[in-house]
Amino acid sequence: MSGEGRPGYNRRSVLKSSLAVLAGSALGRTAQAAEPEIRNVNPASSPSALKITDMRFAVVVKPGPSPCVLIRIDTNQGVYGLGEVRDIAGPQYAMVLKSRIVGENPLNIDYLFQKIAQFGGNARQAGGVCAVEMALWDIAGKVYNIPVYQMLGGKWRDSIRIYADTTESQDPKEYGRRAKERKAMGLTWMKMDLGIDVLDGIPGTVMRPAGLDKWELHDQPNPFIATEVTDKGIDRLCEYVAAVRENIGYDMPLSMDHLGHIGVKSVIRLGKAYEKFNLEWMEDVIPWYYTDLLKEIREASPTPILTGEDIYQFSDFETLCKEHAVDKIHPDLATSGGILQTHHIGDMAFRYGVPMAMHFAGTPVGCMACVHCAAATRNFLALENHSLDVTFWQELVTGIEKPIIDRGFIKVPDSSGLGVMLNDDEVKRHLKPGTGYFEPTPMWDEPQSWDDALFS
Ligand SMILES: [Mg+2]
Repeated sequence: MSGEGRPGYNRRSVLKSSLAVLAGSALGRTAQAAEPEIRNVNPASSPSALKITDMRFAVVVKPGPSPCVLIRIDTNQGVYGLGEVRDIAGPQYAMVLKSRIVGENPLNIDYLFQKIAQFGGNARQAGGVCAVEMALWDIAGKVYNIPVYQMLGGKWRDSIRIYADTTESQDPKEYGRRAKERKAMGLTWMKMDLGIDVLDGIPGTVMRPAGLDKWELHDQPNPFIATEVTDKGIDRLCEYVAAVRENIGYDMPLSMDHLGHIGVKSVIRLGKAYEKFNLEWMEDVIPWYYTDLLKEIREASPTPILTGEDIYQFSDFETLCKEHAVDKIHPDLATSGGILQTHHIGDMAFRYGVPMAMHFAGTPVGCMACVHCAAATRNFLALENHSLDVTFWQELVTGIEKPIIDRGFIKVPDSSGLGVMLNDDEVKRHLKPGTGYFEPTPMWDEPQSWDDALFS
């Protein structure tokens, strides 16, 4: 391949560099300083001529939220990028984008994101768009030989604080014991899942009309299922929080998730009952799009609230922050538009005085996308991890210091791109049964709908 035409590389510059080296050895440092070496440009790449040639996927199964879809975007210069679809979303969310990106220069990240953004939606529906965006950053980092965080403006921190929950138990004492174990692992921030499901079978704790079907219980928003927790129920829930606090003390931030689908007034009463436990936040207490109801809860509850893991649009985060409807936001980068959008969301929230924690439940590939974004975003607090008990989790990748999570922190890598490569053998051991390892995907070569144009 000819080097002519590449930035920072032509025959004349090579000749000049060679002369400079010769001169430098003869004349000393002064001559060398006059002809500085060209650094940080990978001579094996030719950015302007880079083209996407293919996109393939592999589906990993692991304990906790799973399956997790990894994607690989290939180029005409052998450089490839890795990305990850939001946990539990299928590969189709990414693959429908293949025909929209093949032939494009992967370094035009914002252009490509805007081109495919219309195919993303809330929660898991954004998984494909975000996976592609992560993979483009991985390619860009490899081509220019710099870590992703550097392309976002540099880092605010060298290591990323991790927070995690424990497995659940019906026994408050056991809950407390598991929390203590987490603290012993070195975590500096914890979360507990505690909802009205632990009150199942205890009479007089939850008021709810009998006979609600599965769809109503899972998909009907809180205000429409008339479910409230009683004083007896609240007392029982407090026993769990007290047990956890007894075991981890009051110096460590403790957050709470999965309260169950209860009414606004019940959330407020719980927020008041939990005040003495000094919780860092109660999460996703009602669906995120009820801005006014969130505001009502925030104003009445002394326990802070947070939401965001299902939000795709920047403007929806902006509404929550501008209205101060929540105390903190909690995007999942695999839903909130990927690395650059989530960085922008953080910067926007900073201007309103709103901090940003980050939701995450996938493999180390998606985790590293979060790590680079968190490193480069000022108002970041802590990044979630659901795999502290999954021994093979960190073995899925190579090229990074192990343990990846060390005493509750992940060191921000300085290698190029996302900073991880796949451990092929380990990933193959955990493929979803019946699926292959980055097999050809010709069925996605052509668009199957004429749906790019949103206006005529
Ligand atoms: Mg959550």
